[in-house]
Amino acid sequence: MKKIAILGSTGSIGQSTLSICESYPDRFRPIALAAGSNLEVAFEQCRRWHPQLVSISTERLADQLRTLLKSAAISTEVVHGTAGTVRVATLPEANFVVSAIVGVAGLEATYAAVLAGKTVGLANKECIVAAGDLILAAARERGVALLPIDSEHNAIHQCLRGGAPNEVRQIWLTASGGPFRNTPLSEFEHITPAQALKHPTWVMGQRITVDSATMLNKGLEIIEACRLFNLPPSQVKVTVHPQSTIHSLVEYVDGSILAQISVTDMRLPILYALAWPERIPSDLTFDMTALKQLDFQTPDLERFPCLRLAYEAAAASQAHCIALNGADEVAVAAFLSGRLSFLGIPRTIESVLSVTASASPASIPEVLQLDQSARALAEQVIEQHHPYLITH
Ligand code: NDP
Repeated sequence: MKKIAILGSTGSIGQSTLSICESYPDRFRPIALAAGSNLEVAFEQCRRWHPQLVSISTERLADQLRTLLKSAAISTEVVHGTAGTVRVATLPEANFVVSAIVGVAGLEATYAAVLAGKTVGLANKECIVAAGDLILAAARERGVALLPIDSEHNAIHQCLRGGAPNEVRQIWLTASGGPFRNTPLSEFEHITPAQALKHPTWVMGQRITVDSATMLNKGLEIIEACRLFNLPPSQVKVTVHPQSTIHSLVEYVDGSILAQISVTDMRLPILYALAWPERIPSDLTFDMTALKQLDFQTPDLERFPCLRLAYEAAAASQAHCIALNGADEVAVAAFLSGRLSFLGIPRTIESVLSVTASASPASIPEVLQLDQSARALAEQVIEQHHPYLITH
C-alpha cells in the first residue's frame, strides 16, 4: 500500500489523484492533504478520506476547518501556511508525495519532500523551473525518484525506458498550440480571459490554461525538461501537434523515434507515477481506430513570443528562469483580473527579463528572493506602462 501526501489536493491534479486513489483502494491511500483556500472542498476531502493531517493556507481557514471537522467527529489534525504544507510533505508515514500546488508556493514543500527521502510525483513544473538544479541535486544525493506527472515529461520518462541517456539525440515536446493557434495576430490584443480559459483539449487550473494560450506553459516545460532529463535547450525541441494524441517523443541517435500515445486524461500520467516502477491495468484505453490524422508544425515564435523568451531565459541563467516564471505568474493574474491585455503578458515578461542579472542561486531562500524581486518588478511594469494595460 502506498501512502500518499497530496500538495494541492483541491486543484485539478489533486482531485484527479484522489480519483485514482478511489479506483485503486488496495494500492493507494491518501493520508495527508494540503489545500490553498478552498475550505469547502478541503472539508469534503477530509470527510471522504479521513487523512491523518490536512493543511490549509491561513490560520483563520484552519480554525474554520477544525470546527467543521469537530462537528463531523473527524479527528484529522489541521495545520496551516507554508509550514503546514511542509508538514504534509514530510509526514513520516507517507512514502509518496504528489506535488501539485500551482506556482512557487509549492517550492518549499516539494524540496522538503525530497530532503525527507519521499518519492515525488511532480506536477508543479514551476518549482523545477525555479529551483530544478537544487531539487535534482538533493534527489540524486538521497536516491529519491522524481516522477514527472506533466503529460509531456511523463511521456518522455516512458520513452526514455527505450534507450540509454547517451543514445538520445533530442527530445520533442508536443504542444496543442492552444486556442489561438489560428487566430489572426491582429486580434491578439483583444483576447479576453474567457477566451483564453477555453483550452481545446485539456481541462486544467486557470494559470496553466492561460499559459497554454500564450505558450509560456511550453516554455516552462522546455526548462523543466532540461533540468529533469539533464539536456541542454538545444536538445529540447517543440512541435505543435493540434490533436494532442502523441504526448511527446524521444529521438535516438540511430534515427528511431519513440512516441507515447494515450487518451488526453491526466489520470493516466498520475497513475503511471503512482504505480512506478510497475504498470498496472486501467480502463484509460485509447481507441486506435479513432486515430485518423497526426499533424505537426513548427511553432510560430512571432505569434507566441513567450516560447522565444523561455529559450532565451534557459540559455541565460537560473535567475532568468526564475524571473520568467515569477513575472508570468503576476502578469497572468493581472490579465485574469482585467488589468492587463493578453499581449501585455509577454511584454511584461520581456521587460522583467531585460533587467534581470545573471545568477545561480545556491539555496531555496535565494531562489525565493529572486522570485520576489521579479514579481515586484512585474507589478511595477504593469502599473507604469500604459500600453500594456487594458484601456476599454
Ligand atoms: P489548480 O489551480 O487547479 O490547483 C492548484 C492547487 O494549488 C489547489 O489545490 C490550490 O488550493 C493550491 N494552492 C494554490 N496556492 C496555494 C498555497 N499558497 N498554499 C497551498 N496550496 C495552494 O492547478 P492545477 O491542478 O491545474 O495545476 C497544479 C500544478 O500542476 C501546476 O504547477 C500546473 O502547471 C501543473 N500541471 C497541471 C496540469 C493539469 O492538467 N491541470 C497538467 C500538467 C501540469 P485551493 O484551490 O484550495 O486554493
